[in-house]
Amino acid sequence: DDELVRAVDRIMSHADASRRLRVRANADNAEDAARARRFGAEGIGLCRTEHMFLGDRRQLVEDLVLATSDEERERALAALEPLQRADFTEIFQAMAGLPVTIRLIDPPLHEFLPDYTELSVKVALAGDVAEEKDRKLLAAVKRLHEQNPMLGLRGVRLGLVIPGLFAMQVRAIAEAARDVPGTRAEIMIPLVGAVQELEHVRDEARRILAEVEVEALVGTMIEVPRAALTAGQIAEAAEFFSFGTNDLTQMTWGFSRDDVEAAFFSRYLELGVFGVSPFETLDRDGVGRLVAIAAEEGRKTRPDLKLGICGEHGGDPDSVHFCHQVGLDYVSCSPFRIPVARLEAARAALTCAGSDTR
Ligand code: PEP
Ligand code: MG
Repeated sequence: DDELVRAVDRIMSHADASRRLRVRANADNAEDAARARRFGAEGIGLCRTEHMFLGDRRQLVEDLVLATSDEERERALAALEPLQRADFTEIFQAMAGLPVTIRLIDPPLHEFLPDYTELSVKVALAGDVAEEKDRKLLAAVKRLHEQNPMLGLRGVRLGLVIPGLFAMQVRAIAEAARDVPGTRAEIMIPLVGAVQELEHVRDEARRILAEVEVEALVGTMIEVPRAALTAGQIAEAAEFFSFGTNDLTQMTWGFSRDDVEAAFFSRYLELGVFGVSPFETLDRDGVGRLVAIAAEEGRKTRPDLKLGICGEHGGDPDSVHFCHQVGLDYVSCSPFRIPVARLEAARAALTCAGSDTR
């Protein structure tokens, strides 16, 4: 067994010496971060913060979203900030100076709110004796109810609509980074489609970072087709791009990522519309084209723009190969897929030698 381990180590270090693409992990907590490092991650490319708001903290988020006064909202934010700071401190400690990309909260709003139908039934059944609190809650949930939450109040839109939400997260990131010396934090804004959205958040983030006297990169996900097509403008306000190819695939094809088991999907495989699900392997002709356009346009504006991918495709061999070809700096994938990504990144570098775009 020892011999096998040594042989694998030799292969991996040979691969690491050959590849140009860096390999990072998608990890949301210190435990995943530590696991990612054991698999050879050179940083975290995506820390999704929305999971940090579930469980015990759900009530605080509900208080925040449903707050009817500045005081109520500020109270909820003040309760969340130290919890977030602790989350980030643990992750920064686990990564010990390797880059960590923290993505600001990106949930579909309905995940945090009581279910509209259930609550309506509860209030209706209670009739005259329905609690005042439940009536108020129902009115608020009704106001925020969306037919298409995945195309609704998510990502940067949530940050622009709920005052103080992103600022609370940025402050928590900045303070945690200050408390863990050597930290390389990168703050990432989700679901951006227009440079104006990004500018608002970037300006506020920069102000907070300056106050806390901490440096961090501020960048964006590229996961909405419009962001890819206007990448030249978006790069004016972003120090890095990370391609969110899960959403980019969903929005480019118009397929719901939550219904990939839908009947037509297997029919499409049968008919050869695609050989593999585009959610598994990057569709080079369509989604890949948007990635290539955005990489090129982005770097025209900002030659040192850092480029990565953090959708599921970041751990798929064929997609990793493509990422090398279009000149990305890193791929980010689940910890378990890191060894495969390291090997494929090396294979891409060895087979594409001379045809590099960079
Ligand atoms: C993506 O859309 O590819 C992505 C990484 O973000 P999420 O899966 O959290 O939407
Ligand atoms: Mg996404």
